[in-house]
Amino acid sequence: MTETENLQFDADHIWHPYSSAAYPSTIHEVVSADGVRLTLKDGREIIDGMASWWSTIHGYNHPRLNQAAKDQIDQMSHVMFGGLTHQPAIDLSSKLIEMTAEPLQHVFFADSGSVSVEVAIKMAIQYFFAQGQTKKQRLLTVRGGYHGDSFGAMAVCDPVNGMHSMFEQILPKHLFAPLPTCESDEDWQDEDIAEFRDLIKNNHDELAAVIIEPLVQGAGGMRFYCPEYLRQIRVLCDQYDVLLILDEIATGFGRTGSLFAYEQAQIVPDILCVGKAITGGYMSFAATLCSRQVAQGIAADGSGVLMHGPTFMANPLACRVANESLALLAESDWQTQVADIEQQLLAELMPYQDLALVKQVRVKGAIGVIELKQKLDDQMDWLPKFIVEQGVWIRPFSNLVYIMPPYIIDAADLTVLTQAMGKIVEQLSLKLLSR
Ligand SMILES: *Cc1c(COP(=O)(O)O)cnc(C)c1O
Repeated sequence: MTETENLQFDADHIWHPYSSAAYPSTIHEVVSADGVRLTLKDGREIIDGMASWWSTIHGYNHPRLNQAAKDQIDQMSHVMFGGLTHQPAIDLSSKLIEMTAEPLQHVFFADSGSVSVEVAIKMAIQYFFAQGQTKKQRLLTVRGGYHGDSFGAMAVCDPVNGMHSMFEQILPKHLFAPLPTCESDEDWQDEDIAEFRDLIKNNHDELAAVIIEPLVQGAGGMRFYCPEYLRQIRVLCDQYDVLLILDEIATGFGRTGSLFAYEQAQIVPDILCVGKAITGGYMSFAATLCSRQVAQGIAADGSGVLMHGPTFMANPLACRVANESLALLAESDWQTQVADIEQQLLAELMPYQDLALVKQVRVKGAIGVIELKQKLDDQMDWLPKFIVEQGVWIRPFSNLVYIMPPYIIDAADLTVLTQAMGKIVEQLSLKLLSR
């Protein structure tokens, strides 16, 4: 079929993330991908600034990941995990336990990030339930978070941009502290945590866990906050007997400059969600890790089995590719790659800080964000086409033009991305400021 026919069929029949069947948005057809480049149906090659939503850290079409997938397909692409186990799951669990903080010793394999968050929430509630603390069923989080699109996860997403109003009757009511605002530990003031502290102090007998994205809030607004906030949360959780769930689905595996963002705060979670980059962007996969204390607590009343078990749990193909992706990461010099990307993003994006439309430029690890003073949702009729014409793949949302490229991107390609970000802001300024 021609590209036009394909796009017509797509518009008529296929949902995309947050899409409308009545008003289809601009869509491009991709035929292949290699390294940091996507090849479109019309032959154009564009540089990927999104790493397919944080996941493709080693680049596309990686020979080692391809080989791992092929080898595993020839051996066993899937087998049920009820009553059976296999080497890829054992290898991957062992790697994850080794890479993460010492207390985390138990691994639950989930099929997506949202599912891993559901599992984390169940773990926390079951942990207290098994000890007779049946009132501890609620969660405390901060505004501006994103934890996934399933109902349990959605209930802890930002209540305003997380569409709570539409589902209000059906969503569990959790507690929300204000946005973390401190930008660096040097500027820390006790009042930064005051409301959070009041919430946990006044509600701890109903709280099973705090859930939060450490240091970087991703899809909820691409905001960064200081490590001291996390340290304070850890202390409060211990003080009030509330578990700490860290959602590292976006930040995990090096993106913020440390293997996991929590390392920068020198704290350890009770429950940890990882996903996105775990398979190097090859397939949907995630995991929930928990401490021995949590795992044994769930079993404390003698009958407590963890109530979750997806059909495709620990899919061997995904485990095998994840093993290879984590091996690649360990063998690579990702620390230098991420640090170099950070330096270059700072040098090339900070000059945009002075533009009239720009509210703030911020960089952390391999994440570069230009926050605008206005939302650009009503510009999406022309903007995606304009972006692709710049030879890049960037997908702005709300008031954000941002990138988180594959770690393997070279300096020249990264400059193409940052210059394109500048052109996007320039073009948006012409449209938005001249009215
Ligand atoms: C993407 C994301 C999720 C959801 O993961 P899916 O695989 O899309 O279900 C959850 N939490 C965070 C922080 C994420 O970035």
